[in-house]
Amino acid sequence: MALKFLKHFNTRATPQTEPIPGKTMTPNSAGGYSFAVDDWTRLERFMILGSEGGSYYATERALTLENAKAVVRCVEADAPRAIRTIVEISESGRAPRNEPAAMALAIAAGTGHVAAASEALPRVCRTGTHLFAFAETVQNVRGWGRGLRRGVAAWYEGKTPDALAYQVAKYQSREGWSHRDLLRLTHPKTSDPARQAVYRWVVGGVEALGPREVKRGEAAATYPDVSTHLPRLLAAMDEARTADRDVVIRLIRDDGLPRECVPTNHLNDPAVWEALLGKMPLMAMVRNLAKMTTVGLLKPGSEASRTVRDRLADGDSLRKSRLHPLAILLASAVYSTGRGLKGKLTWEPVATIKDALEDAFYKAFGNVVPAGKRTLIGLDVSGSMACGQVGGTPLTPREAAAALALVTARVEPEYHVMAFQDRFVPLDVSARSRLTDVLARTASLPFGGTDCALPMRHATERGLKVDTFIVLTDSETWAGPIHPSQALREYREKSGLPARLIVAGLVSNGFSVADPQDAGMLDVVGFDASAPDLMAGFSRGDF
Ligand code: CA
Repeated sequence: MALKFLKHFNTRATPQTEPIPGKTMTPNSAGGYSFAVDDWTRLERFMILGSEGGSYYATERALTLENAKAVVRCVEADAPRAIRTIVEISESGRAPRNEPAAMALAIAAGTGHVAAASEALPRVCRTGTHLFAFAETVQNVRGWGRGLRRGVAAWYEGKTPDALAYQVAKYQSREGWSHRDLLRLTHPKTSDPARQAVYRWVVGGVEALGPREVKRGEAAATYPDVSTHLPRLLAAMDEARTADRDVVIRLIRDDGLPRECVPTNHLNDPAVWEALLGKMPLMAMVRNLAKMTTVGLLKPGSEASRTVRDRLADGDSLRKSRLHPLAILLASAVYSTGRGLKGKLTWEPVATIKDALEDAFYKAFGNVVPAGKRTLIGLDVSGSMACGQVGGTPLTPREAAAALALVTARVEPEYHVMAFQDRFVPLDVSARSRLTDVLARTASLPFGGTDCALPMRHATERGLKVDTFIVLTDSETWAGPIHPSQALREYREKSGLPARLIVAGLVSNGFSVADPQDAGMLDVVGFDASAPDLMAGFSRGDF
């Protein structure tokens, strides 16, 4: 392996404000030069990291537009592969939010692949919320043709009446779209009275379930009474509107009334939350920990606290629920502070639940097999990493990178974490550090320029033995006298070690500091549940 790297030796230093001679590099948004990632990598980054909140250098709108163009280029290059990639990433749960996948699918439909996109629709848009994100993008990109209307109608027709009832009850409207809008636009057909009851309930409520006669010009169509066919959940939802707490609790327990359908005047009642907790999906449970603590259901020693801890400790169901590590990281960061992101909500965090959240964060990555290599983790904490949001959460790339560094630190027996900007930044991080402490310390670091070559130069200058460098960054590097890829080659030459470099991207821009022509450098999407395992595999030399 070492010989292979020797061929690439080019130790002449090029400042990062200039491209390396003989290499195809593109100017990055910070005024330096980086390697361009290909459109497929960009598609993957967009679906996993999103472009919400933008970045330090680009607004959300500009980033989304750039990403949308990359999606179009993928679809034009190979539409089946593009749609397959969208479906795979969406179904695997690798992304914290599914909206970018729904958007990408709508872009594929808008690029002329209506039939294939319609076929993938139920697999990518698994809830009403995803369907609304799809509809909104369709509206913005291309507008509605007959084929796409049919595709959305098939989404409704493909669900059982009970499954459909759950969707229309729980996800009533989002992004300016409602099921009523979509039913009116797409006219799904049915002869099943239960399904017809759902459609009529969506459009006109319980009053629309009786026998009806609709005049169309001279002719009149008659519709039978379907009120006895209405799925139980929708009837329960209607009953809950005026019910007292005991009835509401019975409807939750017996008919599975979800939190979204409980009238708000009952949502400060611990007994109502206790009933909800019984059937609450894991994702909803994590999102509502603060609320359940505020109303007094979760407190030290309570039965409900134990239920929450047990469910968070169950690695199998964690993975089955596809609860994303970022969602847990966010819940952990917010819950520990005892104060909501917006609004006036405050609570006294339960210590054992804080611990359970921290453990669940690491468990969500599955069992990562250590590479057993001497690993130097370089954490980019420059100013740009403190701006923007990762994966639709309020977490900055800097915080997300710090958390990801802890995951690798916990897996690898021989690791060293260093933080850098355009110089070394002291940041005491070890595998035993508390996640929330590291997040807090990282968040409060001052701004600085970026030199992504520093981890390699640091190792060269100090004579450190490193098999694998992992640099967590947005790749907007500019401040160094030598490019990161050159610094890696210099390190290999001085140390005699065939060191590898993994660049974990935390922002869905089009840049990387890894040289795509060097087989010892790899780009990965940083915040992805499968990233640590992938990085360990590359570090070990599996590929
Ligand atoms: Ca930077």
